Amino acid sequence: MDRRPYLWPDGRRSAACFSVDVDAEAPYLWANRAGLPPHLGQLEQRRFGPREGIWRILDMLDRVGVKGSFYVPSVVAELHPELLPALCDRGHEIGLHGHLHELVSETPDDRFRAALDRSLAVFHAQTGTVPTGFRSPAWEMTPAMLAALKERGLRYDSSLMGYDHPYQIGGLVEVPVQWQIDDAIYFKFQGGGADRWPPEPARAVEASWRDEFQAGRAYGQLFMLTVHPWISGRAQRVAMLERLLTEIAGQDDVWFATAGQIADWHLSAHDGRFCVAADLDPLIAAVEAGA
Ligand code: ZN
Repeated sequence: MDRRPYLWPDGRRSAACFSVDVDAEAPYLWANRAGLPPHLGQLEQRRFGPREGIWRILDMLDRVGVKGSFYVPSVVAELHPELLPALCDRGHEIGLHGHLHELVSETPDDRFRAALDRSLAVFHAQTGTVPTGFRSPAWEMTPAMLAALKERGLRYDSSLMGYDHPYQIGGLVEVPVQWQIDDAIYFKFQGGGADRWPPEPARAVEASWRDEFQAGRAYGQLFMLTVHPWISGRAQRVAMLERLLTEIAGQDDVWFATAGQIADWHLSAHDGRFCVAADLDPLIAAVEAGA
């Protein structure tokens, strides 16, 4: 087995990407698609994202000199039509994230394809361009979803964790995520008695994320940080992100890039070494043989 580390451009040791899932009110609308209740609490908390959080994050990124990858459900683009053009104007990558933030476990293939076509049309109408990447709501995928992305000419997905550097699955580049460097698991707090623990202080999470970044350098890891503006646009979290990103962007042996740039690098530089099948048939056969 070939255990050489993943190769990054210009001899860099590892890579970092700042990704932003611009969920806003979309997951709430999906969860309540059978009928919206007359409640404002969660909606207002989520709408802090497009009103305030994302602009604070964009100003912070300007100060740090980092370009991010922003995944936007197309219903959020329709409700806040200033978002996609502003992201493009400020030099960031925009990518697809469903229409109503459709959860994969609740979405048949034909509805997924319809949402994909609708979001491509919204992005094109608002920006004159179409994205090359997709990130799945809640980071679930199916072989049929990968095939639908490929049919529409998308180059990469960013929803899976099969390596901690880019690889290929189902004919697409996978620019992998990591739950432990996602803000939602530490900071999301919805109120109403549903939460199981209080939000972590930003400084505790900062220490954990710094440790992950530092430890991952030895493995040539892609440090794929993921935040949500309605969660991480709050004051102490923006300040924490600024400290962490300033430190990472100051390292000479780390390539800070957008997910699209990382997917293009993988396509241009890699043979078939990190290429896996999305086909589940061998596992289905193994389950049946053991039953
Ligand atoms: Zn999301």
